[in-house]
Amino acid sequence: MAFHTIIVPPDTEQINHAAALLSAGEVVGIPTETVYGLAADAYNPDAIKKIFLAKGRPQDNPLIVHIDSLDMLPELVLSIPDTAKRLAEKFWPGPLTMIFPKSERVPMETTGNLNTVAVRMPSHPIARQIIHACGFPLAAPSANLSGSPSPTTAEHVLNDMNGRIPLIINGGECEIGVESTVISVSEDRVRVLRPGGITVSMLRTCVENVEIDNGVLHMIANDVKVSSPGMKYKHYAPKAKVIILDGSRQAFADYVNNHSPSNVQDTYALLFDGEENLVSIPALSYGAVHDGLSQAHGLFASLRKLDELNAKLVYARCPEKDGVGLAVYNRLLRAAGFDVITLDKTNAPSENKKEE
Ligand code: AMP
Ligand code: MG
Repeated sequence: MAFHTIIVPPDTEQINHAAALLSAGEVVGIPTETVYGLAADAYNPDAIKKIFLAKGRPQDNPLIVHIDSLDMLPELVLSIPDTAKRLAEKFWPGPLTMIFPKSERVPMETTGNLNTVAVRMPSHPIARQIIHACGFPLAAPSANLSGSPSPTTAEHVLNDMNGRIPLIINGGECEIGVESTVISVSEDRVRVLRPGGITVSMLRTCVENVEIDNGVLHMIANDVKVSSPGMKYKHYAPKAKVIILDGSRQAFADYVNNHSPSNVQDTYALLFDGEENLVSIPALSYGAVHDGLSQAHGLFASLRKLDELNAKLVYARCPEKDGVGLAVYNRLLRAAGFDVITLDKTNAPSENKKEE
C-alpha cells in the first residue's frame, strides 16, 4: 500500500476524483466538522479492511457510517425508534452518532462484528458533497494512526497517513475539533457512550431520560464487555506522559512550579489562554478558560504540537466536566491514561490516584 499521498483542494474536480477512488474501493481522507475522517465504501468489506490496515486499528473497534440524507438510512438499519427520528430531526446534520440494529447489507467488517451500526449525518459541506457524489454511505473513523490524537487539519492526516492512502481532501481546520457524540437509543431513553459536540443538556431538550455510560469517565478493565468498543482502547495520546491536575488555576501553577523535574526542557504545562506566565516551565494553551468549545477546537492540535516539541512529561489543566467540556475531559483522560491528581483547596495534592 505504498501510495504517493497528496493533499488537494476541495474543488469539484477533486471531489469527483475522491468519489471515483472511493467507488473503486480505495480509502480517502476527508474533512468533517468534528475531525478528519478516513473514508471508504461502508458496503465494501475489502475497502473497509484497508481502513483498518491504514490506521492499525483493532478489528473489533467499529466504524461510524456517514450519510448525506435520510434516504440512505433505511438500507443500513433494521428499525428506527421514534426517539431516533426526533433526534435526527433536531441534530442532523451535525455531530451526533446514533446506534441502530444493522441490516444484512452492512458487512460485519464495518461494525467490528457487532449486530448494530453507528450512523451519523455530518454537516460539513465538503463531506456531504463527497458522500453525495459517491451515492453510497461512507464508513469513516478518525484519520489518525490508532491511538494517536485525532487529526483536525489535512496536514495532521498527512503526518499519520503518508504513503498509506492516495488522497486527502483539504477542508481547512475542523470547526468542532473532537469526535461526534455517540449514543444508543431506545424508545424512551438515550445513553451517551462518547460525549461530543451535542451535549447532554442539548439531548435533554429532546429526550427526558439521558444517561451517561460509566465508560465515559472511568477506566474499563480489559475483560469487561463494553457497549462502545472504542472506550476500552488507549486513545488520543501524545508520546509524552500526560498528568491532569484537577484544581484551581493557582493550585495548578503552584503544583507545577514545585514539581518540575530538573530537565524542565522536556516538561510542559498544557493550560488555558493567558496562563502561560504563571508557570516556570514552557507552556502551551489549548483554549480559553470556561470555554469548552474553544478547548475542544484546540486540544488535539496541542497534543500533536507537544509531540513536535518532544515533550516527555505534560501537566494538563483540567477542563470543566459539563457541556462540551465533558467531551474535552473524556479525551484528555484517555490521553493521560486516566492519570489525575486532585489538588485540594489547601493546595496539598491528594495521592496520585487513577480515576477508576
Ligand atoms: P472513531 O471512528 O475513531 O470516531 O470511533 C468510532 C467509535 O464509535 C468506536 O470506537 C465505538 O466506540 C463507537 N461505535 C461505532 N459503532 C458502534 C456500535 N455499533 N456500537 C457501539 N459503539 C459504536
Ligand atoms: Mg478515532
